[in-house]
Amino acid sequence: MSVTIEMPGIVLEILSRLEQQGFEAYAVGGCVRDSLCGRTPHDWDLCTNAIPEEIHNCFLDKVTLDTGEKHGTVTVLWNHQPVEITTFRTEGAYLDNRHPSEVRFVRSLDEDLTRRDFTINAMAYHPVRGLIDLHGGREDLAKGVLRCVGDSLVRFSEDALRILRGLRFAACYSLTISPETSDAIKKLAPLLKRISVERIDTECCKLLLAEGKNVAGMLRDFPEVWTILFPEMIPMIDCQQNHPRHLYDVWEHTLHVLEAVPPQLYLRWAALFHDIGKPACRFTDASGMDHFYGHPAVSKMLANQILHRYHTDHRRIQAVCTLVEHHDISIPTERKAMRRLIARLGEDTTYQLLLLLRADRKGQSDFSFETDRGLLDQAFSLLEEIRQEKACLHLKDLAVSGRDLLATGVKEGPQVGTVLRTLLQMVIEEQIPNEREHLLNAVKKLIR
Ligand code: ATP
Ligand code: MG
Repeated sequence: MSVTIEMPGIVLEILSRLEQQGFEAYAVGGCVRDSLCGRTPHDWDLCTNAIPEEIHNCFLDKVTLDTGEKHGTVTVLWNHQPVEITTFRTEGAYLDNRHPSEVRFVRSLDEDLTRRDFTINAMAYHPVRGLIDLHGGREDLAKGVLRCVGDSLVRFSEDALRILRGLRFAACYSLTISPETSDAIKKLAPLLKRISVERIDTECCKLLLAEGKNVAGMLRDFPEVWTILFPEMIPMIDCQQNHPRHLYDVWEHTLHVLEAVPPQLYLRWAALFHDIGKPACRFTDASGMDHFYGHPAVSKMLANQILHRYHTDHRRIQAVCTLVEHHDISIPTERKAMRRLIARLGEDTTYQLLLLLRADRKGQSDFSFETDRGLLDQAFSLLEEIRQEKACLHLKDLAVSGRDLLATGVKEGPQVGTVLRTLLQMVIEEQIPNEREHLLNAVKKLIR
């Protein structure tokens, strides 16, 4: 059955421009896949038999940029919108599981489609000729199957990043990985060690943002991959937790928590690492019950180590480590405890931490979640209440400034900061209200 894909006007115009000049041109890859499964493509990649120089010549009235000279990609700015056009190409032998030894421009679409990674990514579409699907991508998409184009072992050996791309596509599109492709992933996972940390991190982030149960599924089904990327996780697998609140071992518990946190980057990474320090802290008491004293600090240290290894940006490291470090606090249901927490972490991180605490209980057992559900609800309401009050929990919110202190007789220098911080502490603890008069009185007492 033929299929029609709606394409944006500028894409149609670019395709027809190339064809008027005697070239073949198609939309290809992600945009075709997304259109077929009812998603709106986030960009439209085009491919053509025109070589880069010929592409430039077709768009002399537009701004064109070589964005992948070596790979033959030209970006055309059409009404300020960038559209990538890539010359049909094949790749030579891969010598290092990462880079083709050569990239060769070819004049046939078939060869270009055959070098692509998965059948669902190897389809092209032409407004007149329709769908070009040489590898059964449409059927795989309809059946929900992820499959390599050609021999999986060969394709993953050429470029091992495809292993992670595969898991990512399976998670994001709820696909089952075909047995042959799945076996190859398990077998060749060690090749991931040769891939740059930045490319791995990018794929992991995209994967972690997929639907929770799919992410958990990929971790559960492919420990071979995760233990290569994060060997620090190996002891989590089968690490028992004999405790009335816990149903699962540390690894399975982690997967349940991942499933239960919303798809936000920092939260998903924090869920992944929150208990990674547990195996090192396991202590079985005389009654046979397991305890994991001090594990948040060890988890934080390991998370920090891993994220640095993957050249993660500073903000993400900070955010993830803060969540991991605090994930085992008791649920703050007292005003003062909540005010202190917000003062330390800020409102947004406190909110994320509550989401993590809730997911952690869900990942322990229904019993644990039901036991703490009321407390968690209370904590969320309390956070909201304090948010509404616009309470003074940071130095910038204090009703007096450093200059006011100098006027009251505080000596210039470090003492100003010390007094301000002391005042803030008293306000957070609700010992005095954040009002000028009260604060200045307190200052006078302090310097006396
Ligand atoms: P999205 O952009 O939504 O992540 P996409 O399929 O467009 O998905 P890209 O990374 O933009 O993914 O790549 C575009 C196309 O290039 C893919 O659909 C695939 O056909 C091909 N491709 C990308 N990376 C590889 C690779 N490592 N090996 C083989 N083909 C690849
Ligand atoms: Mg893309």
